[in-house]
Amino acid sequence: MRKDLCFLNVILIGVVAVCLCFWPSASLGQDAGKVYKVIVDPGHGGQDTGSKGSGGLLEKEVTMALAKKLVQALEETGQVRAELTRTDDQAVSLDDRAGLANHNHGDLFISLHLGTTFASDPTGFSIYYWSPTTASPTAMPFSNTVRSWDQEQEPYWEKSRMLASLMQEELLWSIPWASGGVLPADIYLLRRARMPAVMVELGSLNHLEEAAQLQKPEFQEAVAKAVTQGLIKYRSLEDKGIVIKLKSPDS
Ligand SMILES: [Zn+2]
Repeated sequence: MRKDLCFLNVILIGVVAVCLCFWPSASLGQDAGKVYKVIVDPGHGGQDTGSKGSGGLLEKEVTMALAKKLVQALEETGQVRAELTRTDDQAVSLDDRAGLANHNHGDLFISLHLGTTFASDPTGFSIYYWSPTTASPTAMPFSNTVRSWDQEQEPYWEKSRMLASLMQEELLWSIPWASGGVLPADIYLLRRARMPAVMVELGSLNHLEEAAQLQKPEFQEAVAKAVTQGLIKYRSLEDKGIVIKLKSPDS
């Protein structure tokens, strides 16, 4: 992991620990009656198989298995309700995935993917968020009154970055993989989400060891629990109106 990201994470852990310890009441207070809805997006589906591993294993199958485990882990907390953007092996366009999340008033969006590598080194995991510095120059300037479909993520990107950082911390604690970091990227799907949104990319099917791990239910459960834990910490801070404005490579 890069040194600056390492430093950033040390700061983040400290700030989160202080916030969680000294803020009155750890309950998810303000909107206690409101259902907190997490949209879980298993990448790919149908004809769009995603990456392929040896033995015919497909990214779309692994993302679905991970997504189902994540939905289960989230629901078990009793604090959130989770919805999938696809429930079976069907192709859903990126616009439809974002549209479904926005239409169903999701509070958070998590897209699950695998990486690709042709190197012998393992890929590890990376977490992506959209940021204005990654936006294409043709995008319309941001306006508080008129926001195009392409700019839905603009008001949420700092929350997305905080969510990504918290998830990374939990994944680092829980699974013995290296982190490629918390990275800004101009990802079409994230740009269109009207809620904090991240893309988690886990390992690669081209890498034999990672592919073997990714197929194990216990590994999938460990990932799901870590992502859930990061999300619960995020929600606890968000509920108290705290958004940690991290310094990162894109700011
Ligand atoms: Zn993918």
